[in-house]
Amino acid sequence: MRIAIDIDDTIFPTVKKFIKYHNHKYKTSKKFKDCKNLHAHKLFNLDFEIFLERWTAFTNTDYHNLMKPYPNSIEIIKELKKNNELYIITARNKRMVKSTKTLIENHFGKNFFKRIIHLDYKDLKRDEKHEICKRLNIKLIVDDSLETVLACSKEQINCILFNYRNTYNWNRYSKTNKFIKKASSWKDVEKKIIIE
Ligand SMILES: [Mg+2]
Repeated sequence: MRIAIDIDDTIFPTVKKFIKYHNHKYKTSKKFKDCKNLHAHKLFNLDFEIFLERWTAFTNTDYHNLMKPYPNSIEIIKELKKNNELYIITARNKRMVKSTKTLIENHFGKNFFKRIIHLDYKDLKRDEKHEICKRLNIKLIVDDSLETVLACSKEQINCILFNYRNTYNWNRYSKTNKFIKKASSWKDVEKKIIIE
């Protein structure tokens, strides 16, 4: 089976680290629990373009490079690779290709994933994750974005909505459907995939 896995807040605690970086660098005092959706520029009251610059810069700092993956994630993903074809699909833009590749390689080694796919704008339009999943015949996606899993579920793709220890305020009270299962740890992800 082909499985797509998200990076930020699915394998790594990125939002938490980004907030820490931003608070330190720009003297803000935002809290993780205040992040109620994934349009993080709104949390910081920034224009999207400025936010994007800061978010891109963050991926070249130790806040990003030294992030530790969530407990058990690496082992479980390595185990999943034995019987499945694994893809990373990330909303990170193309300017983050290098830092993303390094982060992934540091934990999984070279060429572990079949592909690492970045969403990016072309002529003001970008392919969304559900379109890419459909095109690649992906049967399961693990992601923390409610918007992404809802869109994927409409394409009848099975989804695991990740919310580490139920601490994410951007997807915890969400209504789901039969294609969506929730997981609050990687052990939980593993269980939900085995039941599949
Ligand atoms: Mg994510």
